[in-house]
Amino acid sequence: MFEEPVQLALSLPAVAITAGAVAAAAGLAWGGLSYCALWPASQAFGETLIAPKRPGEIALTYDDGPNPAWTPQLLDILARQNIKATFFLIGSYAARQAALVRQIAAAGHTIGNHSWHHPNLALTPAARVRNELVRTKATIEGITGKKVDLFRPPFGARRPEVLRIARSLGLTPVMWNSMTTDWSTTDPELIAKRLIAKIEKNWARGMAANVVLHDGSHETPEANRGPSITATKRIISRYKQTNKFVRIDEWLRHSANC
Ligand SMILES: [Zn+2]
Repeated sequence: MFEEPVQLALSLPAVAITAGAVAAAAGLAWGGLSYCALWPASQAFGETLIAPKRPGEIALTYDDGPNPAWTPQLLDILARQNIKATFFLIGSYAARQAALVRQIAAAGHTIGNHSWHHPNLALTPAARVRNELVRTKATIEGITGKKVDLFRPPFGARRPEVLRIARSLGLTPVMWNSMTTDWSTTDPELIAKRLIAKIEKNWARGMAANVVLHDGSHETPEANRGPSITATKRIISRYKQTNKFVRIDEWLRHSANC
C-alpha cells in the first residue's frame, strides 16, 4: 500500500501549524470563505483542509468504500450511537453499490469524492485527474441527489494542479491528521490505541482530530474491514460521553467561529 509513506511524509508538515495560523490571521480567503483554522499540510502541494482549532472534536472519516461486506455494519454502529461521519467513496465502487450509497446519505453522513479508480493523482495527467473527479462527483450526486463538495486524494497524493482541478469543480481538498495502518493491522485494539494517541496529540496541539479509517479497499471491493470497524466502536465508546463527533463539512460551516 502507498498510504503509509504518505503518512510519514505528512508528519513533517504537521509542525507547520504556525504557518497555517499566520496565513489564517492574514485573512486567508479560499472559495469565498475565510478559513481561520485552515492548516496547510504543505505549501508545496497546495492548501488542504485538515482540522480546525477545535480541540475535543473528532471527525471520523472512512475511505475506499462503499464495501457491501462491511459498510452496512459500520452504518449500524454509527446509527446506534447517533454519530455522523464522512465517507470518501471510490466512484467506480459507488456506481455498483447505489443502494448502499443512498443508505449512507440517508443516514445523514457526508459523502466525499475519492476519485473513480483510486490512482495516484500526483502522477496522473491533468485530463484524467479531471475525469476521475468529474465522473465520481456526477455518479454520487446522481445517486443521492445531494451535492458532493469534499475531495480526498487517494493515498493523500496530490500536486498543486490536482488541487486546482478539484477546486474548479467545487471540491474542497481534505487530508487528515490521525491515521494508522488500519488496512493491514489485524488487532482492532492496537488500531484504536494508536488512533487514540493521535487524537489526543492533536487535541493537545489545540486542533480537532481528523481520523482516517478504511471501510473499504482500493484493491478489492469487499475487503475484510472487521478490525477497522471494531476499532471504531472502541473510539466511540471512549469519547461518546465527553467529546463531539462531527462531519468534515461541519468544520467548513462553522469556520467563522473557530
Ligand atoms: Zn483511499
